[in-house]
Amino acid sequence: MKMTDYVREWDNDNRLWVYEHRTVIENYLGRSLYSDEHIHHIDENPKNNSLSNLDIVSKSEHCRIHKPALKNRLCSIENCDVKHHSKGYCKKHYARMFRKGQGW
Ligand SMILES: [Zn+2]
Ligand SMILES: [Zn+2]
Repeated sequence: MKMTDYVREWDNDNRLWVYEHRTVIENYLGRSLYSDEHIHHIDENPKNNSLSNLDIVSKSEHCRIHKPALKNRLCSIENCDVKHHSKGYCKKHYARMFRKGQGW
């Protein structure tokens, strides 16, 4: 999931991006989230920031939730059956995409 999929607002006072899903949880908890507290979107839709769709998970737990599907994936380039290396691409295509700076 790309960070740009999240709903965010520029906080001019603190000079940083504020993510709506973090604000929703922080308002609910009445405190700030720690940096290792990640918010998982239960329906995997990053734009659905209703409280019932948000789950507080640790950083490592969050990685685990998102990883399994990717682990045995093949490259997402059409007609490329090479096992995925990173971000859903095989080594060759990942290097190519990364150089071009496309996709994320
Ligand atoms: Zn998540
Ligand atoms: Zn490939």
